[in-house]
Amino acid sequence: MTPPSSSPSRRAVLATAATAAAVGTVPSAGPAAAFADDRERPRRTVVFRNVRPFGALRPVDLTVVDGRISDRPAPGGARVIDGGGRIALPSLVDAHIHPDKTSWGGSWVSRRPADTIADYVAQDVELFASQSRSVGERAYGLMAHAVTRGTRAMRAHADVAPAYGLAGLEGLAAARERLAHALDVQIVAFPQHGVVRTPGTAALLEQAARSGVADFIGGIDPISFDRALKEQLDLVFGLADRYGVGVDIHLHDTDDKGVTVLRGIIERTRALSLQGRVTVSHVFCLPALPDAELGPLAAELGDLGISLTTVAPSRDLVLPIARLREHGVKVGLGSDGVRDAWSPFGNADMMHRAHLLGWVTDVRLDEELSACYETATHGGSDVMGLPRAGLAPGSPADFVLVRGECVPQVVVDMPQRDMVVHGGAVVARDGRLVRHDA
Ligand SMILES: [Zn+2]
Repeated sequence: MTPPSSSPSRRAVLATAATAAAVGTVPSAGPAAAFADDRERPRRTVVFRNVRPFGALRPVDLTVVDGRISDRPAPGGARVIDGGGRIALPSLVDAHIHPDKTSWGGSWVSRRPADTIADYVAQDVELFASQSRSVGERAYGLMAHAVTRGTRAMRAHADVAPAYGLAGLEGLAAARERLAHALDVQIVAFPQHGVVRTPGTAALLEQAARSGVADFIGGIDPISFDRALKEQLDLVFGLADRYGVGVDIHLHDTDDKGVTVLRGIIERTRALSLQGRVTVSHVFCLPALPDAELGPLAAELGDLGISLTTVAPSRDLVLPIARLREHGVKVGLGSDGVRDAWSPFGNADMMHRAHLLGWVTDVRLDEELSACYETATHGGSDVMGLPRAGLAPGSPADFVLVRGECVPQVVVDMPQRDMVVHGGAVVARDGRLVRHDA
């Protein structure tokens, strides 16, 4: 990210220098150079003219060749899209979302009081039954909306339980297929109703893993909810090992139980050589841990490539991202549930989530605000194992164009996403999905 500064002129100098060094660009005013030999002509070149990477004051042209940022000069006759002097920023990554549960795009849902996971789960089932639209339709609506807000990729959890069978998984797979041109999606088969406490779930999870649709097998609070630490972890990790899928486990415990589960996850990740294939979501037991305990635990997570996600729910429960990163732990940011039985809130807008991360952590400084954006972009890419969309030569041409001044200001003001580009193709304009590059 561009090094921020409190001085606008200083910031401009830094941004311009960083841009010149890191981005494959040519000055906006100059003509695009032609290739000497047509045989060298790339198959698909698009020039995004007059854009300001990371808020640089001096507009440049971003050249995209076959979906990646290029530092080669654009050939004459290459397609040119005018960016109108807008800021170009890396597209966002939603590292944790539940599109199968959403009522997005439908009628308002009134919720009843709930205290326990079992209470919420019961209302999940009621909401599911009350919706006239299929899971696939509802999920597609939410995921398409996320694309228009600049999301390039998401890890989507689908409830897998006897109450639904594999309907959630199949719905997400259908939505993923429809949005394949615009969004990279990883699907987690998530046993929201418990693995052991709800008979029939284990068989469904195995079916999900075997189907090839689920990229990850989920888990949930093996001690406090499932009351079967060893059984749940053995089953989930056993499926990952047998079917070559990853693991992404919800862990809500705020106390020692959470740490005990983490140790079980670490042990199995090491034993089964699942380095880089395991994620733990929420991990509410970590924020309150003293440094003396957090350090060694984070070092183990970092060594094993066990990544974490947070949805920045509150000051007390948001992960200590900077401290975890010091130990090499990858941390992504996510939406969690969006207008489902759990919460009336949520909008699948990861720029808004970056704003919320800054809000709950009470940040003030430019570099802190920029770090929030970086967690919502590169943090999620790291968790999902995707190349970072850093606007540097060779990186995927996944970026958003917004009107604004600089990255910290964008995180605060959350401007409209005027254009969203995925793999070099325009996939959304002015908040609306476009099917074709237009
Ligand atoms: Zn979740």
